[in-house]
Amino acid sequence: MSNQDLSAYSGIWCVGEVRHGKLAPTIFEILTAGGQIAAALGQKLSVVLIGSGLGPWTKEVIEAGADQVYLIDHSSLEQFVDEAYAKALTDLVNQEKPRALFLPASTIGRSLAGRAAVMLKTGAAADLTDLSAASGSNGFEKGTLLATRPSYGGNILATLVNTRSRPEIYTIRPMVFPRSPKDSTRTGVVRNITVDPATWNLRTKFIAFQAESSNEIDIGSADKIVSGGRGLGKAEGFETVRSLAKALSAAVGASRAAVDSGWIPYKHQVGITGRTVRPKLYVACGVSGQVQHLAGMGQSEVIVAINKDPECPMMKLASFSIEADLYEFIPAAVKELQKHQS
Ligand SMILES: Cc1cc2nc3c(=O)[nH]c(=O)nc-3n(C[C@H](O)[C@H](O)[C@H](O)COP(=O)(O)OP(=O)(O)OC[C@H]3O[C@@H](n4cnc5c(N)ncnc54)[C@H](O)[C@@H]3O)c2cc1C
Repeated sequence: MSNQDLSAYSGIWCVGEVRHGKLAPTIFEILTAGGQIAAALGQKLSVVLIGSGLGPWTKEVIEAGADQVYLIDHSSLEQFVDEAYAKALTDLVNQEKPRALFLPASTIGRSLAGRAAVMLKTGAAADLTDLSAASGSNGFEKGTLLATRPSYGGNILATLVNTRSRPEIYTIRPMVFPRSPKDSTRTGVVRNITVDPATWNLRTKFIAFQAESSNEIDIGSADKIVSGGRGLGKAEGFETVRSLAKALSAAVGASRAAVDSGWIPYKHQVGITGRTVRPKLYVACGVSGQVQHLAGMGQSEVIVAINKDPECPMMKLASFSIEADLYEFIPAAVKELQKHQS
């Protein structure tokens, strides 16, 4: 793509995820990230929504910062099929030439970003944990996007730049950026894009969606999380953690030490090589609070640490530090909580 006229590309696009008739809240985090970049570059901030029945969401994304909303609304786009969505998105990109696209680093966002990057012959960087525009003083030309992501298993934080192709495509890790505040006085332009998927000769089609059957609350969307670490000492220790999580209606998280010990599946791992969370309440049980764990939960509103070691980093960081053996404290706390619930 070295012959591409990079200066022809302008505007920041945030691609929202509409799944089963609902707009995923990640769009509001991406609007924060995209809004900062659009302001730094002095460019327009747009949202792209692909799906069916999208009208209700335009007001919300405009109130959250979008100057313009592209709606690619068609009944056959009701369910996500990456081939169809990528075709819709890349046709629009080729027509409008935005500078950069931001998507959530969700299953759908990653799939769409990767396919769109291949179709557009441009670069994509996945799972960003930070993003800024160069000021011109640190060796990068002013306005160069500096994208940060953990690399080599979280051992380094790499800064990636794309100086050669447009649009730049990035997926942003959920919960890393706060949601953009709403301003009901904002106005924006809505552009309805007409598409005819029947002419696209798609090789894939949606057949059925089957949800994972689980009674557990996902840590990614939980308001409250109770996490267990190596201090549990054994896999069965998670029964104690789960009893507290149940009493608090919280999700169950874990440190990497607990996951690596095989006590709980990886999807529960919080941290730089796990998931980033931002709950109102984070209870760390037998988790020492190493920097790689704190990177995933340090933005929690209230942190409670239950630990035998008052000097460990988690106890120092916590809003409430409980110096205790978790096997003595948690059953007593659960009993108290149950008293208040009955
Ligand atoms: C590249 C890289 C990436 C990593 N990514 C992650 C990541 O994403 N997430 C992550 O969590 N870690 C990650 N780690 C690992 C991290 O460095 C720590 O090793 C890990 O977080 C430690 O887990 P822990 O706090 O459960 O265990 P420990 O550090 O061993 O802490 C156990 C704690 O339990 C307490 N304890 C023991 N018994 C009891 C008891 N009965 N009651 C109360 N307290 C008790 C101890 O005092 C101690 O504070 C990564 C490491 C590397 C090198």
